[in-house]
Amino acid sequence: MSMQEISYWNREIETISSEALRKLQLKRLKETVNTALKTPFYNARLKKAGINSADDIKRLEDIHKIPFTTKDDLRECYPNGLLSVDLNDVVRIHTSSGTTGTPTVIYHTKEDIDNWTELVARCIIATGSGKSDVFQNMMGYGMFTGGLGLHYGAERVGMTVIPIGGGNTVRQIQLMKDFKTTVLHITPSYLLHIHSKLAEGEISVKDLSLKKAYLGAEPYSENTRKKAEELFKIDAYNSYGLSEMNGPGVAFECIHKCGMHVWEDAYILEIIDPKTAEPLSEEKEGEIVFTTLMRKATPLLRYRSRDLAFIYKGGCKCKRTHRRISRITGRTDDMLIINGVNVYPSQIEQVIMRVPEVGTNYQIYLEKEGTLDKLIVKVEIYSKLFTGELKELDALRERIKEQLRASIIINPVVELHEPGSLPVFEGKAKRVVDTRTKL
Ligand code: ADP
Ligand code: ZN
Repeated sequence: MSMQEISYWNREIETISSEALRKLQLKRLKETVNTALKTPFYNARLKKAGINSADDIKRLEDIHKIPFTTKDDLRECYPNGLLSVDLNDVVRIHTSSGTTGTPTVIYHTKEDIDNWTELVARCIIATGSGKSDVFQNMMGYGMFTGGLGLHYGAERVGMTVIPIGGGNTVRQIQLMKDFKTTVLHITPSYLLHIHSKLAEGEISVKDLSLKKAYLGAEPYSENTRKKAEELFKIDAYNSYGLSEMNGPGVAFECIHKCGMHVWEDAYILEIIDPKTAEPLSEEKEGEIVFTTLMRKATPLLRYRSRDLAFIYKGGCKCKRTHRRISRITGRTDDMLIINGVNVYPSQIEQVIMRVPEVGTNYQIYLEKEGTLDKLIVKVEIYSKLFTGELKELDALRERIKEQLRASIIINPVVELHEPGSLPVFEGKAKRVVDTRTKL
């Protein structure tokens, strides 16, 4: 059988009618409410909201009776306020890194891991990959969900998995060549960094067998995707997930690359106005809210992800009926206010990544100048440009500055840097350095 014929992992569920899907969601929402009532946190929270059992949920719309859950709630539940099964039935624990406070904990039963693996398997098949692919998993293993999440799904579909994890660029490149890796799982920033390392070594893109990359774990622009696709001559697919909802496998692009299908038999998807919490209709951008429908050990109801996106109208050419969300344009908490103007880092990235002279790395730097904020956009440009005329560099700097000003309405300082001079991240990139609050 050729790869083209295997276009679904689970055709029945992936192409389910919307009526059947709603029925299934209601059944699973009721089950989830019952499971949630077994946790100390939701038992108190739901009863306060007048929900004493699943019988209080009669229609899907009744989800609006359920209060939202926030990251702070999860933190307050540390370590086991959200555990709904006997610890003997837990086979794995993931926690967030905890850099911004107490870590959040998600427990998984054997069935939870199995369901998660199935979701990831669907994603992989939706991009046209399968048994014949060699999959180099360059996301971190360990508590971070990126590595293990894709690993299990990739094995389930029968790919040959290279579980290398993040870092060690030279070895990564060597393994890609030696094992003829066809599919990468990697952050977009690290993929672009690998390209600059290729330029220094003896192995070139032509010596590799790459076909695809799954890019996720951090926000990036459409222009960054295009850049990655052109530099490596691959197809790059957007992969979105968050540890609270398992990790990767929540939403993924299919071969048509027109938004990410959210597996709606496993998650109820809502988009709300982040300020008023009112529900928003399709095509309106707002905060994504998820409810788990299949999780046994740690159910989460109406979890506010803080990620911003919108839902696409209409169906997809692939015939999957699960709705598609847009690229994540930012997090409600990463919006920068610069001299009173609201700017998302993604807006800046979108502009600089379409400038052909710009290389593979950049940084957004903010500082105080007197009472005003100063935005400095540092971009790496290709080294050959540094051998040219100073006048040309000045003109390039002006051009980038003008394009940024037109897009974000503030006047940045643009600095041009040599390749390899800005900080590199093997996991999630930290693009913004904000020194304004420091004394
Ligand atoms: P955190 O980054 O909050 O410590 P996670 O490791 O669970 O926790 O990462 C999940 C977050 O990563 C998402 O909420 C989202 O902000 C970001 N993310 C993941 N995939 C993507 C993607 N494809 N595009 C943009 N952002 C993403
Ligand atoms: Zn599709």
